[in-house]
Amino acid sequence: MRNWPLAMASLVLGMAVVLGPARAADNYRMGAASEVITPKVAPDAPPVWLAGYGPGRQAEAVHDDIYARATVISDGKYTVAIVACDLIGLFREDVLRIRKDVDQLQLKPPIDYVLVSSTHTHAGPDTVGLWGPIGRTGVNAEHLKQVRAACVEVTRHAHAAMRPATLRIAHADVNEMAQLIGDSRQPIVIDSQLTVVQAKDETGRVIVTWVNMPCHPEVLGSRNKQLSSDFPSTERKHLEEKFGGTAIHNTGTVGGLLAPREPKTHPITNQPIPTEPIEQMMAYGRLIGTIAERALAKSVPLAGPIRADAKELLIPLWNPMYRLGAQMSILRRQVFDEKGERTSIPATAPAPATPDAASADAPRTAPTGPEFFLKTEVARLTIGDLEIAAIPGEIYPELTLGKIQAPQDPGADFQGAPQEPSVFGLMRGQHRMLVGLANDEIGYILPKSQWDWVAPYAYGRKDRQYGEANSCGPEAGPRIMAAWAALVKDR
Ligand SMILES: [Zn+2]
Repeated sequence: MRNWPLAMASLVLGMAVVLGPARAADNYRMGAASEVITPKVAPDAPPVWLAGYGPGRQAEAVHDDIYARATVISDGKYTVAIVACDLIGLFREDVLRIRKDVDQLQLKPPIDYVLVSSTHTHAGPDTVGLWGPIGRTGVNAEHLKQVRAACVEVTRHAHAAMRPATLRIAHADVNEMAQLIGDSRQPIVIDSQLTVVQAKDETGRVIVTWVNMPCHPEVLGSRNKQLSSDFPSTERKHLEEKFGGTAIHNTGTVGGLLAPREPKTHPITNQPIPTEPIEQMMAYGRLIGTIAERALAKSVPLAGPIRADAKELLIPLWNPMYRLGAQMSILRRQVFDEKGERTSIPATAPAPATPDAASADAPRTAPTGPEFFLKTEVARLTIGDLEIAAIPGEIYPELTLGKIQAPQDPGADFQGAPQEPSVFGLMRGQHRMLVGLANDEIGYILPKSQWDWVAPYAYGRKDRQYGEANSCGPEAGPRIMAAWAALVKDR
């Protein structure tokens, strides 16, 4: 009997050790909120220019509201906010202003890191500048200000709604039943992993269902004139009707060109899917919602500490169109010199030279020109076993997955360019996810060894592909990947 207290103590101690990881999970607090950010579309309102595809596509009506949605999660020591907007993209300048305003709320606990991402809907207002009438920005500065304010408000509401939470995570291959994501360029490399994280409170009520998917929200297509979040609208609606709480959609890897492929028949019900774009978009979103819902049936617990680390970096601005856009203030974008000091591109600055076509005895050179840079950010978030790469644009799936073409196509511009490491290849977390269009939109991010601006073109093509014209330049890929490698190594 004298030994009983000791035996009891060791039993309790043993239990504490066993319960250790589970207790960490119980320490999560999580909240979610959403705010409508739909601009007014009316004859008496300023025109709304739809972003994506060609310029000058004016919205004629609102099909469904677009949102800023946020979740704030804390482990008691570290707190992060994840904001997702139904927009083509937000520049870093806007994200920094949102963060400053969130700071000024002086929330308790303070939010240590705010991630602001865009879903990249091609049926939302232009928030970047490229899609107004020719020669003019498509951005309505007043609406953009409302968007920034909504991002701050939604963060504040999600923070106020934080309560004890238990998390579960699941993955699904979206292309398993039918090919729902396609790649419209060469080489064909597809990321089709959907990740879903769901948080429930102590009473079992769902706080948030958070979906990440590597696909352009563009089922509505280039002829659409209605404002919409595209397929995430019905995907989120499906999940909110099924589970309650707030559904959030993040877009992952979308470079190359990962875009929806609409099935003719529903892969679960075998019912025909209408070909009319609005109906198709709604059906596609419900299908993605169903895939996320089914994946959750096989979810596993997510536990462990939260952390976020970010790295600022400079990306050489080679793209002649982007440079012209920055010069003309069509792109409201700050430009930096190689030391990271603010500068501007003088009107007299020559356009960057493109290299001459290579001859057999002269290796191709990098496009050259005056050096101007964009400042951007790569970040790494961990939520227990979930490791998240926050990448500031549209990264090619081969950089995410480690599937860079090898051997290199003889038509590629930089023969012998080394292969970058891959985002997922450097991760250590059991669960891997990539949030694209995160904290910025710098355009496409390609492996340098696949860069192909100059004839002869890769794959025997007669002209260049789409991606290079919508990229900062050939150094974007290597610089982003070097920053990611450094972030992972620093930990
Ligand atoms: Zn895109």
